[in-house]
Amino acid sequence: MFGVTRKKIERRAKRRNATATNARSNPNGTPFAETAASLTEIGRGFHVRGWVLGTSGNFSAVTSREPLRLAIASTGLDKGSLSPTQFLEVDNAVNIVRGDGRPSAEALLHLAIVRGVGAGAVLHTHSVWSTVLSGSHASQGGIAFEGYEMLKGLEGVRTHKHREWLPILENSQDMVELSDRVSKTLRASPSIHGFLLKEHGLYTWGAGLQEAKRHVEILEFLMEVLVRSRAAGERLIPALIEPGS
Ligand SMILES: [Zn+2]
Repeated sequence: MFGVTRKKIERRAKRRNATATNARSNPNGTPFAETAASLTEIGRGFHVRGWVLGTSGNFSAVTSREPLRLAIASTGLDKGSLSPTQFLEVDNAVNIVRGDGRPSAEALLHLAIVRGVGAGAVLHTHSVWSTVLSGSHASQGGIAFEGYEMLKGLEGVRTHKHREWLPILENSQDMVELSDRVSKTLRASPSIHGFLLKEHGLYTWGAGLQEAKRHVEILEFLMEVLVRSRAAGERLIPALIEPGS
């Protein structure tokens, strides 16, 4: 019985893979339009959460592996009013192959992640929480999360006892140099789910858009918990040592 079920699952997976391969190989790029629409929806949602205020942050997804093509929002856009027509398709050297606009300089970081870990989608946010923590923990080189049930939302994590290391990289405006450091970080720590740029923001990724979106939600949650619990602790400690309390 189990064997039959497993075969059925394998057949379904093969059909899904075949569909995905056909979609990717479509030169007219229905995947690009669909991807741009999905990225728009995700970006607007992140704006509502306060994670990509103003023109901050960016979102990308692979539309083709061979040759490598990435759908990515044009630079300088208000993420609260994104539209699918504002997305570009770029090649592995950030040349525009589709769409009007200018790619973000940070597209190089997206490409470094896609190449480094084989990600299918890369999402970048500038939340208050990532800005605070990437500054306060920079001297430690990163932040460790352990013991939180929400860690199980990260791909491959099965227990709250998992220790997730979120490295912090020094920020830079030199994207060639920074993308090189990102590549080195990913080579050194291939199992991480994201990293922070100091007082800048979070980069995370996934095999596909939904996984990358989930990773943003999990990591932003964990960072917010850390900042809020410390703020609560700072308020509680003086109350505990108050004479007569
Ligand atoms: Zn940024």
